[in-house]
Amino acid sequence: MSVYPKQLENLINELQKFPSIGAKTAQRLALHVLDHPEEARSLAGALVGVRQVKLCQRCFNISGEELCDICADPGRSQETVCVVEQAKDIMAIERTGQYHGLYHVLGGAIAPMDGVGPEKLKIAELLERLKDAPIKEVIIATNPNMEGEATAMYLSKLLKPLGIRTTRIASGIPVGGDLEYADEMTLGKALEGRRDL
Ligand SMILES: [Zn+2]
Repeated sequence: MSVYPKQLENLINELQKFPSIGAKTAQRLALHVLDHPEEARSLAGALVGVRQVKLCQRCFNISGEELCDICADPGRSQETVCVVEQAKDIMAIERTGQYHGLYHVLGGAIAPMDGVGPEKLKIAELLERLKDAPIKEVIIATNPNMEGEATAMYLSKLLKPLGIRTTRIASGIPVGGDLEYADEMTLGKALEGRRDL
């Protein structure tokens, strides 16, 4: 039996579905919402507005437009593509300030145990993109874990015959680690020390 009215209980349940929000936090947030109707209104607006965010048609980064800010920026080098697993990895690499090329988001890594084969990733789209773009180097920046390494190997086998230089970021990032959590310095060094595949 809940001590809260049904509406409040609903809100608590919805909030608990978010990552790292436990029962206590959800309850605290829900009560905060009750006490701050103005904030609640703008949060509701933001939640609806975020539905307009889509994936960039070219690189599959999160974007408010057809092309993301990076693809649309003529100042970025058009000769390098950095392949990452998730859009959040782009944010991590951008924070290093050391990379000025383009990106391609795969949407994950090859993980046969979880039923993720190459066809579930944006690999065909990457190959298509490479066909008619002046790309000289593909930097593979998948995570340094088993799935990330398997994906890097798979990609390098596909890319080599195309005559495009294929590199892998250095393993300054701890094995099994996540790009997202690497600090700027480590990630910057990993990019700098990339090796040919
Ligand atoms: Zn893009």
